[in-house]
Amino acid sequence: MSDGTQRIKNRLEELRREINQHNYQYYVLDQPTITDDQYDRLMQELLRLEAENPEWVTSDSPSQRVGGQVQKGFASVPHRIPMLSLGNAFGEQDLKEFDRRVRSGLDGEEVEYVVELKIDGLAISLWYEKGIFIRGTTRGDGEFGEDITANLRTVKAIPLRLKEDIPFLEVRGEAFMPKDSFVKLNEMREEAGEALFANPRNAAAGSLRQLDTRITASRNLSAFMYAIGYLEGPDPGSHARGLAWLRELGFRVNSQHKVCEDMEEVLEYCRRWQEKRFDLPYAIDGLVIKVNSLQQQQRLGATLKSPRWAIAYKFPAEQAVSTIRDITVRV
Ligand code: NAD
Repeated sequence: MSDGTQRIKNRLEELRREINQHNYQYYVLDQPTITDDQYDRLMQELLRLEAENPEWVTSDSPSQRVGGQVQKGFASVPHRIPMLSLGNAFGEQDLKEFDRRVRSGLDGEEVEYVVELKIDGLAISLWYEKGIFIRGTTRGDGEFGEDITANLRTVKAIPLRLKEDIPFLEVRGEAFMPKDSFVKLNEMREEAGEALFANPRNAAAGSLRQLDTRITASRNLSAFMYAIGYLEGPDPGSHARGLAWLRELGFRVNSQHKVCEDMEEVLEYCRRWQEKRFDLPYAIDGLVIKVNSLQQQQRLGATLKSPRWAIAYKFPAEQAVSTIRDITVRV
């Protein structure tokens, strides 16, 4: 093996080790030690080296898995349908390539997209049987999540009973901590000499994984629901109609989503939010672009890690915080 080859192999191993450690800090301990931007750069480097050297991709590489793990202290429960992650777009070029991939996967058909805010919280899955909330979990490793039903029952935006008695519905969304609650919580922790949360996402994740649900209840969490995971009954045909229906059922659905006729309109909406992102009362780390037609979504399918019909557009790095210590400055 040449020196150059050995160097790449070593770097790949180093990246896997580092990223796995950051995943543990972030998903299990809720205590990241680097910013998301720094993390994304490591992951991009890993993906690039693996794409250039596919024979060295290992099944335990963080590129092959959905990030989380199930924490001890909570029951580990299987998802009915895996909860995947999203592919990332780091600029307009990546979005245009996504559009090309989608349209070629659909033999050149016209595609409508829905653009949503990417709420920076924790993915949750809620099960309703005959309209009654029976189970709530985290995403975990995508196959198994943590059963946090008792904690989620304390979140007022989560209905315990729906407005229709649907036989079975699994709905997915994001639990989050509003910025003002996050600032107050950290002020209180500082006074009490406790460790501060790095950002609202970590505060929400930490609050939902409390064994004492009274602590969760005191944390003023909220949740936006953004997808139907599984439904017994006819599907609503499009993602946008699904969102409208979820709202009618009593869920909190973010109103800042937009149906776009083409990628140009998507790009325009992304540019607008890049400027307005800090005006919101909750943190977002980008936008999510989804194919609107559920039939087209099904035809596109998914890879092991993420659906082919959706992508996360991450805001450019200059707007990201630069060090972990500054992380609370621009929430
Ligand atoms: P992701 O953040 O790239 O995107 C998937 C997630 O987006 C979903 O699981 C869901 O929770 C969320 N989401 C929010 N709004 C949504 C909407 N409207 N529709 C669909 N999904 C929506 O994926 P991930 O696997 O959760 O996390 C990876 C990211 O986490 C990295 O890119 C990095 O930014 C961050 N991270 C940081 C560290 C660190 O040490 N700083 C470590 C691990 C991960």
